[in-house]
Amino acid sequence: MLTVTGLVAGYGRAHALHGVDLEVYRGELVTIIGSNGAGKSTLLKTVSGLLPAIAGRVELEGRDITGLRADKVVAAGIVHAPEGRRVFPALSVADNLRMGGHVRRARAAEREHLTEVYELFPRLAERAAQPAGSLSGGEQQMLAIGRAIMADPALIMLDEPSLGLAPVLVEQVLATTAALRDGGRTVLLVEQNAELALDVADRGYVLERGRITHTGSAAELAGSAAIQRAYLGG
Ligand code: ATP
Repeated sequence: MLTVTGLVAGYGRAHALHGVDLEVYRGELVTIIGSNGAGKSTLLKTVSGLLPAIAGRVELEGRDITGLRADKVVAAGIVHAPEGRRVFPALSVADNLRMGGHVRRARAAEREHLTEVYELFPRLAERAAQPAGSLSGGEQQMLAIGRAIMADPALIMLDEPSLGLAPVLVEQVLATTAALRDGGRTVLLVEQNAELALDVADRGYVLERGRITHTGSAAELAGSAAIQRAYLGG
């Protein structure tokens, strides 16, 4: 589905990614773990066209999308739910969701996607008419994920959906990413909470200072002594 090869990117002269290789297969939930400043957000931003690639290649379903503008990347089928819950507070929950569905590939099936979102998040269905600004932090995160689904992406990329949430909500939101995968969607999840991310993911990559240092099944990574020491408090 997604193939990233030799990706170099950064800010001005400071490179934050130094040749990253990564693959996501259809129907997988893949997580990228790594500490603060490792380059996780930079990787997602470069894949989604918000930052230019300095070198390397990004392919979606065999198509070279390196260097496409962000709106073209969305049209190609990648939706990026960035860090921080950016909902439109004055608009209702339903209108926030509809805004996510205004891309050509998704328009025809808006109702179907809305049903999918409401099945995944019954809380959003209950609050459909309420202004998004009145939702709790966890509910706003659900709304941000729901809005990404409305674009009917081939690949959905989530950047730290658990950020700033209470522990019980963190578990809920991460369980949701697994539910997305179980519903047939392909998910790339960036998380600082390595333990929970490896709990729900199929495979993972560890990013350290702009380089992939480990990769394997989620169980292999969770069982690795080096990763336990560095990321799992073991
Ligand atoms: P976090 O979990 O803190 O978001 P991250 O792994 O997502 O960390 P990035 O945000 O990708 O890390 O940052 C990678 C490197 O790029 C860091 O050294 C960071 O300081 C730098 N960086 C990030 N954004 C910018 C920017 N807008 N301008 C300059 N440098 C930046």
